[in-house]
Amino acid sequence: MSFLSVTVEEPIGVDHCITIEEMGEGGVQAVCSCGWQSPVFGSDTTTGTMDPLQTATDAGDLHEWDMSLR
Ligand SMILES: [Zn+2]
Repeated sequence: MSFLSVTVEEPIGVDHCITIEEMGEGGVQAVCSCGWQSPVFGSDTTTGTMDPLQTATDAGDLHEWDMSLR
């Protein structure tokens, strides 16, 4: 007897709700309710003159959009 209880929890209709988290030091990160996280924006200078909050928001939007295509 084997107890191969593989519980594959497939969340049906998981929604992607983006929250913008402030990471301190001016860094912001988009976090989705599905567990996805964007990189932290704004904590360094790689984004240049871009608004980190806007960048994180855009990343979140992109993720939502990307997921909606599947
Ligand atoms: Zn998501």
